[in-house]
Amino acid sequence: MSERRDLSEKILIVDDESAMRHSLSLLLSGAGFENQTATDGSDALQMCRQVEYQVMLLDLQMPGANGHQVLAELQQQKASTRVIVVSGETSFDAVRDSLQQGAYDFIRKPYPAEELLTTVRNAQASYRQEKEQLRLEQVMHESEELHRYIVDNSPDFVYVLDQEGCFTFVNDTVNNLLGYNREELIGRHYSELVFEEDLPLARYVFNERRTGARSSRNVELRLKLNTEQVETRIFDTHLLPIELSSVGMYNASHSDDGEKFIGTYGCARDMTERKQAQELINFHAYHDQLTALPNRMLFEDRLGLAIAHAKRNERILAVIFLDLDRFKLINDTLGHSLGDQVLQRVAERIQGCLRAEDTLSRFGGDEFTLLLPELDDGKDAAIVTKKILQRISEPYLIGGQEMFLSASIGIALFPDAGDTRESLLRAADVAMYHIKGESKNGFAFFQESMTAGWGEHLSLERDLRHAVESEQFEVFFQPKVDSEDRKIVGMEALIRWRHPQRGLIYPDQFIPLAEESKLIIPIGDWVLRATCAEMRHWHEQGLSRVPVSVNISVVQIEQPNFVQGILATLAEFGIPGNQIEIEVTESGIMKNRETTSLKLRALSRHGISIAVDDFGTGYSSLSYLHQFPVDTLKIDKSFVQQIEGEAPEACIVDAIVAMGRGLRLHIVAEGVENEDQLNYLKKIGCSEVQGFLFGGAQSVAQTFELLRTGMMARVPSCPLENFPFQRFQISIP
Ligand code: C2E
Ligand code: MG
Ligand code: MG
Repeated sequence: MSERRDLSEKILIVDDESAMRHSLSLLLSGAGFENQTATDGSDALQMCRQVEYQVMLLDLQMPGANGHQVLAELQQQKASTRVIVVSGETSFDAVRDSLQQGAYDFIRKPYPAEELLTTVRNAQASYRQEKEQLRLEQVMHESEELHRYIVDNSPDFVYVLDQEGCFTFVNDTVNNLLGYNREELIGRHYSELVFEEDLPLARYVFNERRTGARSSRNVELRLKLNTEQVETRIFDTHLLPIELSSVGMYNASHSDDGEKFIGTYGCARDMTERKQAQELINFHAYHDQLTALPNRMLFEDRLGLAIAHAKRNERILAVIFLDLDRFKLINDTLGHSLGDQVLQRVAERIQGCLRAEDTLSRFGGDEFTLLLPELDDGKDAAIVTKKILQRISEPYLIGGQEMFLSASIGIALFPDAGDTRESLLRAADVAMYHIKGESKNGFAFFQESMTAGWGEHLSLERDLRHAVESEQFEVFFQPKVDSEDRKIVGMEALIRWRHPQRGLIYPDQFIPLAEESKLIIPIGDWVLRATCAEMRHWHEQGLSRVPVSVNISVVQIEQPNFVQGILATLAEFGIPGNQIEIEVTESGIMKNRETTSLKLRALSRHGISIAVDDFGTGYSSLSYLHQFPVDTLKIDKSFVQQIEGEAPEACIVDAIVAMGRGLRLHIVAEGVENEDQLNYLKKIGCSEVQGFLFGGAQSVAQTFELLRTGMMARVPSCPLENFPFQRFQISIP
């Protein structure tokens, strides 16, 4: 290339007359032009094949190939060489032919030296100008190729619209991205590409006339795909989410009022992947990992919308709470991973019973909630529920084992059972627990009456768990008094639950559930510790020692370290064994009779006395009592309350007192509320009594005052304490 470039500076003199060649060469050299010579046309053409000369001085009349042939050949080769014909021929035809054949100029022999040199200089300049032109064109071409390459290989869809909004340019990416050919789109209006719902927004962006910082950037839109061409994407089968940026284009050279708007330039970026990632993150936030069902948050959200909708349209909706029966057993025996599989199968089966508009959610553990919006009749919920129960009861083959499941289901209907998310969920939960408490494997619609009974307390399980963690319990004390002189002879520790929303909750409402869920173990522990701490406090404050009875659940007794636990707590607080009595119910004492007896004996050896609580309500037999180290019988308040004057029912109390005295046991009558009862009990020889007549259970502070002053509190600690039947009511918020 560089050699050709050097040679291309030269001038070629073509003439058959050597004198002519010589004189021309001398003239050119003298003027600073490097030159070569050829003796005829063939010689010249030969040399031109090696080198491109800038200028050729060509004679026409030559033997062999003449000047016309040379011109014809160069013209054919599209050579840039400027040919100046230097000829003795002066005919018009010769001049015309030469010029037609591409000659640059024509000079007659004999040539005037100055004219020839000027012509050569001009020819050379013309040659160079053409070359520069070509070079620029090449550069332009390459640069355009580069830009086109960049634009076409951009991952973004790049386009230009005219003032009307029609495509005047689209890059190749449009093909891969949207499935259209360039040609198909050119001339079409952008709106044909935009998803109808997004058109109003698209109008702003695609028609963007602003430039610079105020132009539209990163606006999200959906474009329609040419589905025949593009594989379907996961979001929508025919839409591509994009992020669009666009700027107005102006023609700066427009003369009158400055710049003229000529269209819009923009680019759109495929957002599919980003959307997918976003969707995934959202999915995880709103779905349960195990079953991929909506989680509690999403469920509550949808429930809120459904309630609003049902209110507007005066429709019914159902919230269903489903809890698998004995699922814990499956988890415990099969392990968690098989347990998980069971839950997945259950979820699939329930889902199979639902309509598309229904929502099934995993609430946690083995609890599922369902939302059935827009029901015509509440009975429809029962139909779906029966179908679900049926499907759940079909056998499961998991880990090579066949197993059977059942579920308890509670249904709450809007608006009857509640009109907020919370009230509906709670109502469904209460109804579900109602079934759990009764037969399991069935369903019930929520009824107001359920809130007063079992259903409600059992529904407190979650709260109860939390209460254990955050120690929401308090220990109250009820005095036991001598029936003759009414002096305090002991105290009974009774637990209370101070619920942050519901206020004070009584043990009848949560002890059964605490036992079923084994939460009674930490709770019982807590009660004993709180009691011992209080007794130590009394002692430290100089009060005389007063024995305290603590109620113990059979679940606690079943614990292998039951005895050691109690002894360790007493030792920790420095409470002598003979200051503590434990109260166990009749049914509790009869369970696992032998081991229970051994454990109670162990406690007894440490001075701890044993009372049988609620005596008379269970086996009502003294025959087994000799097996146990029992010290005290507590006559259940239901018998005491039957004492009215000379009422015959009082006979049971008579019998218990008689038997107890025969066995040399302490007898304590519970639930003494009036003087008649007290007098009767005194008459038959019952020495200790407990009841509202002497005060209900009282707080730690009130008890301290009572022990300090020896005065019975006039007003019971809690007014409700005097109205035992009212206090079972828990109002649902
Ligand atoms: P309980 O051990 O038989 O306790 C006596 C219950 O009768 C107490 O109810 C007490 O407040 C109530 N009572 C006392 N005097 C009268 C009266 O004159 N009339 C009437 N109608 N009732 C009276 P509370 O405190 O609600 O306890 C209920 C039951 O809960 C207890 O019956 C006991 O079985 C259980 N419990 C209480 N605290 C604990 C505890 O810390 N652990 C265990 N495992 N159970 C407890
Ligand atoms: Mg008791
Ligand atoms: Mg009792």
